[in-house]
Amino acid sequence: MAKNYYEILGVDKKATQDEIKSQYRKLVKQYHPDLHPNDESVAAKFKEINEANEVLSDPQKRQQYDYELENPFASAGGSYSGGTGGFSDFSDIFGDIFSQFTGGGFSRSSAKRAGTDIGVTITLSFMDAAKGCSKEITYKRTESCSSCKGTGAKNGTNYKTCDTCKGTGQIQQAVGGGFLKTVRIVTCPKCGGSGKTIIEKCTDCGGKGYNTVNTTLNIDIPAGADTGSYITKRGYGNASTNGGESGNLIVEFKVLDHKLFKRKGFDLFVNVPISYKTACLSGKVQIPTLDKPYELSIPDGTQSGKEFMIRGKGINSKYGIGNLYVTVFIEVPTKLSRSQKTMISDFDSDLDVKQTSKMNEYKVNIQSLYGVNPYTDK
Ligand SMILES: [Zn+2]
Ligand SMILES: [Zn+2]
Repeated sequence: MAKNYYEILGVDKKATQDEIKSQYRKLVKQYHPDLHPNDESVAAKFKEINEANEVLSDPQKRQQYDYELENPFASAGGSYSGGTGGFSDFSDIFGDIFSQFTGGGFSRSSAKRAGTDIGVTITLSFMDAAKGCSKEITYKRTESCSSCKGTGAKNGTNYKTCDTCKGTGQIQQAVGGGFLKTVRIVTCPKCGGSGKTIIEKCTDCGGKGYNTVNTTLNIDIPAGADTGSYITKRGYGNASTNGGESGNLIVEFKVLDHKLFKRKGFDLFVNVPISYKTACLSGKVQIPTLDKPYELSIPDGTQSGKEFMIRGKGINSKYGIGNLYVTVFIEVPTKLSRSQKTMISDFDSDLDVKQTSKMNEYKVNIQSLYGVNPYTDK
């Protein structure tokens, strides 16, 4: 079952975006892992809060989530239920918010800073997204310079302790004046917080400690990727500038439309025109599915707009299996010849009111209201 994100954030299902935002801020302050070091249950709760916020703060994702909450089958496996049981890859698809959250500017000032995240968008055909695929991407990222081991100093050794901060990477700075003078700790401007000054620069990276490289990566995209969903490849972002972990690569998807299919979550929808004859007398019609055509039997007396559900023929993802919904509509022939017009007219005159019970019911109802016959040509 999908987690109830409304319960996690402690907000009403009808909460406004402002209410969600303010409640989220309150909870972040309360459960931030920095305030509860070594408490894994708080860390888990914090992750859950971020996951809930990620969905509910985005009107589009929230709408989809609401839909799935009300249509349990559509959410079988729950495209928004996180991190349970066999869903170990789940955070890969819809994003590990937690790692981004602490990987960015939120980390403790004394800790090594992680490298920055890199965002890449891949455009997928409808079929590739629905069936899953593998894509090779090439992108630019910074990599720690191997010649100087990221120090920027020649051979990785040609540096000395920074004399401005005495190697601490931080300096005290006076703010204000007179009685109001206060002192705050800031990153050393001379060494940028590394605590070291380069004597001779590394020639391979020009003293930066990193190089920009083209990286080619194969991305396995599981079936069910949708526009706006993404995979986080941890550690494939930019190198840290002070010896911390590399940032993440976030691969976001954009899924193109299809001529036959529409989708919502893992469910697929197709509209199929049928003839008046098939609708009256029954018949068979070929329906598209993701792999091969499926023969659908149309019973006699099928009305325009009738929906058929073909169970399990939607997107088959490891996170859930969708259905295929087929809506048929009768195509009314146009540009009739004179003899065709006569045949249709004769046929219509031959019909008994019992054969068109809805029209008859409508006639009775409107007559009781206004005393008029809605079908004046009869
Ligand atoms: Zn310094
Ligand atoms: Zn270097």
